[in-house]
Amino acid sequence: MSLEIENLDLQAAVELLEGGSCSSEELVHALLSRITARDSSLCAYLSVDGDASLRQARDADKARASGSTAPLLGIPLAVKDVINVSGDSCHCASKILEGYVSPYDATVIGRLRDAGAVFVGRTNMDEFAMGSSTENSAFGVTRNPCSIDHVPGGSSGGSAAAVAGGEAVAALGSDTGGSIRQPASFCGCVGLKPSYGRVSRYGLTAFASSLDQIGPMTRTVRDAAALLEVMAGHDERDSSSINMAVPGYSSCLGEDLRGMKLGLPKEYFVAGTDSEVDNAVRAAVEECSKLGAEIVEISLPHTDYAVATYYIIATAEASANLARFDGVRYGHRAEGVINPIDMYGKTRAQGFGAEVKRRIILGTYVLSSGYHDAYYLRAQKVRTLIRQDFEKVFEDCDALLTPVTPTPAYRIGEKVDDPLRMYLGDVFTVPANLAGICGLSVPCGVSSDGLPIGLQVLGPAFKEENILRVGHAYELARANSKNG
Ligand code: GLN
Repeated sequence: MSLEIENLDLQAAVELLEGGSCSSEELVHALLSRITARDSSLCAYLSVDGDASLRQARDADKARASGSTAPLLGIPLAVKDVINVSGDSCHCASKILEGYVSPYDATVIGRLRDAGAVFVGRTNMDEFAMGSSTENSAFGVTRNPCSIDHVPGGSSGGSAAAVAGGEAVAALGSDTGGSIRQPASFCGCVGLKPSYGRVSRYGLTAFASSLDQIGPMTRTVRDAAALLEVMAGHDERDSSSINMAVPGYSSCLGEDLRGMKLGLPKEYFVAGTDSEVDNAVRAAVEECSKLGAEIVEISLPHTDYAVATYYIIATAEASANLARFDGVRYGHRAEGVINPIDMYGKTRAQGFGAEVKRRIILGTYVLSSGYHDAYYLRAQKVRTLIRQDFEKVFEDCDALLTPVTPTPAYRIGEKVDDPLRMYLGDVFTVPANLAGICGLSVPCGVSSDGLPIGLQVLGPAFKEENILRVGHAYELARANSKNG
């Protein structure tokens, strides 16, 4: 049969496999051909192991023949290069990790593997997940499948481009300050950042440990629900993971939003946001109201401080986390060194890119004695205020609707030399990480230049079912109105 792999979502792939109309081997074959044809222009993947993926696919086909009904049996997934998959490289798109091969599976990978998934390749990203455009990768710039001279967003730009460009049925990303939601928005796919603690971080290379979460990037909200259901849950190996039952997210989805109260934070609808983004998000809000939701204006008064707070806390944590990359245990080691101190210095100077160095320096500064209280401690206090803003509005609202980003995707090279401008683009995504709540990005429009625009749905901590319900009903209504 001829498979239209570039349009296939996860749910449809599951149905094809379960119905016996194609095998996992055929599916993976089709996907590998698509990647070969398309990825030289997109650069969504850093590496693809065709033989290993076909082997996993054949094993899945055998398991099905012997009666296995695992939920993701034979489904190919793409994995961001920051998540460990046993036997695969894990470079975090950094030269310092060149040559490193993971000796173990991250907990999410183990869970997905037990559910039958096949791991096809490693997707490109900003080095150590630091960035918003995937231009900080040491191994090439990923392009936006909707317009190849535009960035795909970041840092999970490779995963977003793979899904949106038909080179993956679904992918995994990580989100520390928007890295799942923002690239999903720029490329026109769905991205979900789970609440902090919902998904295990064991095996996710740490950037900022109090903010990082792994989440699904998919073609539909239903697919994100299906993946999260498998990925979520308590893990003894991650002390920040919560011991709380995982709801059957797929069964929480419906066609309307009756009985739901959705808040519009006035601080997210302000001058400075591109008018096409503002209009698309407002139209999506209108659609949610037609679906039966009650819409109320609310306020998150500390929003203005979120970007500054984030860039202090994230860099402080990064400076500590990245200290382990010194040439001793992982990847690259400088040659011709005279003593250990010389080796650490030279290895790090050679191995880290400019943005990573900038963050390590900034993070070390905000933690240094004499400045710690003025920056780091103060940022932690503001973080609490931001969290309390959300707690207060969620006493009354089931979810919030906002833009994901102030603008659609920009041109490659446009902001790369102006880090501050790039950081400001994270204004609508970082508050969710600081507060530990969950967030979803779902396509809601296209700019006059043909660039996707995303709607952000924010939900209370551990209420992923709320945001999935809103996103799914909205996505169905949008598809119906396009078809009608
Ligand atoms: N763009 C943000 C940053 O550069 C977020 C990155 C992320 O979520 N990993 O820090």
